[in-house]
Amino acid sequence: MQQIPTRTVSTTTAVGGKIHVRLTRGYFQNLRRLISGPMLMMYFALVWVQIDGQPWLLFDFASRRIMLFGTHMAWHDLPLMAGLMIAGTCLMFFAAVAWGRVWCGFACPQSIWSWLFIRIETLTEGRAATRRRQEDQALTGTPLARRIAKHSLWILASLVTAMTFTGYFIPIRELVSDLLNLQMGLATASWLIIMSALTYFNAGLVREKVCTHMCPYARFQGVMFDSDTRTVSYDAARGEPRRGVREKGSDAGDCVDCDLCVQVCPTGIDIRDGLQYECIDCGACIDACDTVMDKIKRPRGLIAFRSENQQQNNASPVLRPRLAGYGMILFVTIAAVVYGFQNRNNLLLEVLRDRNTITHTNALGELCNSYLVKLEAIDPTIEQVKLTLQGPAGLYLTGPAQLTMEASGSTEQTYQLCNRDPDLPIRSEITFIADTGSDLVSKPGIFLQASH
Ligand code: SF4
Ligand code: SF4
Repeated sequence: MQQIPTRTVSTTTAVGGKIHVRLTRGYFQNLRRLISGPMLMMYFALVWVQIDGQPWLLFDFASRRIMLFGTHMAWHDLPLMAGLMIAGTCLMFFAAVAWGRVWCGFACPQSIWSWLFIRIETLTEGRAATRRRQEDQALTGTPLARRIAKHSLWILASLVTAMTFTGYFIPIRELVSDLLNLQMGLATASWLIIMSALTYFNAGLVREKVCTHMCPYARFQGVMFDSDTRTVSYDAARGEPRRGVREKGSDAGDCVDCDLCVQVCPTGIDIRDGLQYECIDCGACIDACDTVMDKIKRPRGLIAFRSENQQQNNASPVLRPRLAGYGMILFVTIAAVVYGFQNRNNLLLEVLRDRNTITHTNALGELCNSYLVKLEAIDPTIEQVKLTLQGPAGLYLTGPAQLTMEASGSTEQTYQLCNRDPDLPIRSEITFIADTGSDLVSKPGIFLQASH
């Protein structure tokens, strides 16, 4: 392998430790927008878009319900949400083995919000070069006004972000109304302030330091990479020895040492120094370098998503067992979640046999068991539920055949199950069936003939 000389990262980018990211254009920037744009919109839409007065997503602790796109779910459906998270994690692992840290560069909320805040910074304080110049100047007049505008917009963006996040747990209309009328409780207000401060701090002030020092994902990336993982790499064999455009000779590589790849890097690294844990695979340096290659009429791809095997042996990435394994787990998890969603019930049925009195005798002298039937409707449109019993022919149920749900969405009723058959065994298996018209929920139980 060719040795690349160590060099100091240009101080034109990092001033006093602060990175002034230069925005660039190109294929990967468009791709990032194509991925992160809908994710950002979905983050806000889930809370702010309402169907029949209900948001697309709400974790309602008070009524122990989850609302998801007009569907009501109960806490016991949380495993389905956990399944979705497991599927998301598998997708991240699959992407990490195939393409390195693309999650970080293209879809991670930290990156998405950081780019958003960088855009606000560019809009208010000007481009990276202007901002770098202003670092050494006294903060008065227009620069001061621009700085105030930047921080004001950052605070506003942080507050809207925090409000939206809180709206996942408290209906957003209530939240806005409480805020406007200054009637917000201390707990909610404190939560909003903490969330806003975290957003402002992470996306505005520390940005790449979260990725390089705080995020654990960067640390265990190392164990996921293999020699076929495509990650952003500099083709040293083609680029070195690097020379400025004016110094180029016949022995020079394609790199013109313009530093553009460093200036656009959100983590402030020089990819020409080789693979570094700070790199989030955002592709900004690829776009910047491709622009330079176009200008000097050299082929694109001096920096590109390439695997070690591609770089050294020109070998195409292959399907490895680990990649196939993550793909398989992802497929199975998604299939299980889809199955779970399709087979979930809108009604919860609980049947409790009276254990204090195993049996009792009714007015006809028949042995009976007593059961408490509890119903809870997940879907608030359920009003009437028909209750039936499946079991041996000699058993019959005494109690209302139709139950009306109360305003709370639940109801309970005691039933007597009695026996007319003298030949019935001591223990019989039975099933209670609740029918809403659209859902059929059953609960198994036993009937005992033992006398107390
Ligand atoms: S952008 Fe390309 S040409 Fe310019 S310094 Fe980086 S690798 Fe070299
Ligand atoms: S080195 Fe390139 S891909 Fe890596 S973080 Fe910097 S700009 Fe993004």
